[in-house]
Amino acid sequence: MPPALPLPTIDDVRAAAARLRGHAHRTSVLRSATADARTGASLFFKCENLQRMGAFKFRGAFNAIAKLDPAQRRAGVVAFSSGNHAQAIALAARELGSTAVIVMPADAPAAKLAATRGYDAEVIPYDRLRESREAIAQRLADERGLTLIPPFDHDDVIAGQATAALELFEDVGELDALFVPLGGGGLLSGSLLAAEAVSPLCAVFGVEPAAGDDGRQSLRRGEIVTIGIPDTIADGAMTRHLGERTFPIIRRLARDVVTVDDAQLVDAMRFFAERMKIVVEPTGCLGAAGAFAAANDWQGRRVGVILSGGNVDLARYAAWLAGA
Ligand SMILES: *Cc1c(COP(=O)(O)O)cnc(C)c1O
Repeated sequence: MPPALPLPTIDDVRAAAARLRGHAHRTSVLRSATADARTGASLFFKCENLQRMGAFKFRGAFNAIAKLDPAQRRAGVVAFSSGNHAQAIALAARELGSTAVIVMPADAPAAKLAATRGYDAEVIPYDRLRESREAIAQRLADERGLTLIPPFDHDDVIAGQATAALELFEDVGELDALFVPLGGGGLLSGSLLAAEAVSPLCAVFGVEPAAGDDGRQSLRRGEIVTIGIPDTIADGAMTRHLGERTFPIIRRLARDVVTVDDAQLVDAMRFFAERMKIVVEPTGCLGAAGAFAAANDWQGRRVGVILSGGNVDLARYAAWLAGA
């Protein structure tokens, strides 16, 4: 069944880019002679781990809140997330003179609760085992007139996330391939819209954890497949299914969805720390691990990689780097 509303287009992506100008960082694209020598490809790393609040999610959150009408913006927004979307919504709301309520598990890491509150959001803790965060967020939206902003299945979020890949193509020119971390598909569907418009021959791949290959299954089956909560260190890709808005774009434009395991993510994390001197979180390494694994197919070709985020608990990070 075709979606009821037209899907976002490159015009929406360009409009998002204009809204984000002066608010989001135009993040660096890093090269590494070592990575090129090891893979035989020319790699271009788009460093969204250096984005504001540490991940590309600021782009989609900002675009979605910027598009609200003044009354909606005054009333405020609500989101449920324990990860980067929470901090993105909190920072974007503050930046745009709105207010954010974030529904977070009561047992979320203290550092994440503190970071979200640090951006002036009101945190509503809930009991993960007894309560539904969707229901709580919906009740808050109804009672307080808040606008609910989902983490990926929303046209303005998709258009905002797309601006990272758009900048990459603008900065380095057309690419032969692009590897993109995949959770619910906001980043991938947006990247596909950008590639279709400005680098139409580029083969775009989504990369997801092997333990949570719902995206791959969905492509194979031609419909959205829902899985159990995946067991992986890629905590930003523990989504159980793609979105109603993201899947049709992925299905139409993605070359494929590939998977990597946690050991490959740790190898990539270590590579970025040791060789490129950058901190990339496990989920942020999905695209890179996918590109490293596929290197044989891209000898001598120009390959883009989106490093999607850098927010990681330092104690766990140290243990992964140390090989513990
Ligand atoms: C959310 C997130 C992803 C996955 O993005 P989707 O739009 O849900 O596919 C990847 N990497 C990081 C760092 C994230 O925070």
